[in-house]
Amino acid sequence: MEKIYDIVIIGAGPAGLTAGLYASRSKLDVVILEKNAIGGQIAITDEIENYPGAPKDSTGPTLVSRMKEQALHFGAVIEKGNVTSFDFNNKIKIVNTDDKVYKAKSVIVANGGTPKLIGCPGEKELTGKGVSYCATCDAAFFEELEVFVIGGGDSAVEEAMYLSKFARKVTIVHRRDKLRAAQSIVDKAMANDKIHFLWDTVVEEIKGDGIVESIVFKNVKSNELHEHFAHDDDGTFGVFPFIGFDPVSHLYTDVLDMEWGYLKTDDNMVTNIDGIFVAGDIRVKSLRQVVTATSDGAIASITAEKYIEENFE
Ligand code: NAP
Repeated sequence: MEKIYDIVIIGAGPAGLTAGLYASRSKLDVVILEKNAIGGQIAITDEIENYPGAPKDSTGPTLVSRMKEQALHFGAVIEKGNVTSFDFNNKIKIVNTDDKVYKAKSVIVANGGTPKLIGCPGEKELTGKGVSYCATCDAAFFEELEVFVIGGGDSAVEEAMYLSKFARKVTIVHRRDKLRAAQSIVDKAMANDKIHFLWDTVVEEIKGDGIVESIVFKNVKSNELHEHFAHDDDGTFGVFPFIGFDPVSHLYTDVLDMEWGYLKTDDNMVTNIDGIFVAGDIRVKSLRQVVTATSDGAIASITAEKYIEENFE
């Protein structure tokens, strides 16, 4: 007889792994599908100091590996799978990967998103070593240091405001001479003594030996290059690119309700389609952190369990 899972979870980041842990602990038959490395964004995060209870020297990979072991321990199955299409129209949901068809009573969509990269030399090598895509996670590392925020949208200006509570000086580097962000937040940033602006400027290269030491800017009007070096006393500075975040949601366009490309749910992770739940960074929410992803995953799993009880037993 063909297998019908209780829950298919798409994505093995903190949200998906936590949903898998809760579901398997409730003795549900659950499979987690992941096309890349297990752990999502935290798998590439060097230091995790804001996840409650995580040991002092926790790194993204160590935390992920513990989450994975815990889910597997209770019977969750993790399979490599790139979801290419699905059919959510009927009571039994179908999820297709490159090489397999999965059937399930419910689906938890937890495939996250990725910050847009500048794409310049040095950016990837120095991520977690001065380059960061999360102000809430990493601002504390730049207490009394200098910080550059790249971008001119709402995220860049809001995060610059947050960083100004820690950093000595925050410079917003924007490729035009006018911010895209909402005027209300722009007014606040303009009135903040710690926030400065570098207009018509893009980042050409980020340099450093194991830690950010300098950054090369290009003025897009004059094509002039300028290399900024860390102050001798500091040794380093922060680079926070906020040039957009891509939720991996294109597959669900016209099927699940969205806002700015993020999937909409209620507080119980319920979507506009019966039996389809959403958790983690792909969801409309105000704080994208490991702690909120795991919370979403737990809620999604419990809601899915109740849905299965009410609709299948
Ligand atoms: P965004 O609005 O797309 O802004 C991205 C910014 O980065 C723009 O200023 C853009 O410049 C710049 N940029 C893009 N690619 C770049 C590159 N390769 N090099 C240098 N700069 C680059 O992204 P977002 O700020 O993440 O916001 C995404 C959505 O969420 C928006 O709709 C925003 O309104 C919304 N949001 C709302 C709130 C809120 O209401 N509180 C908070 C955060 C986000 P250009 O301006 O020249 O295109």
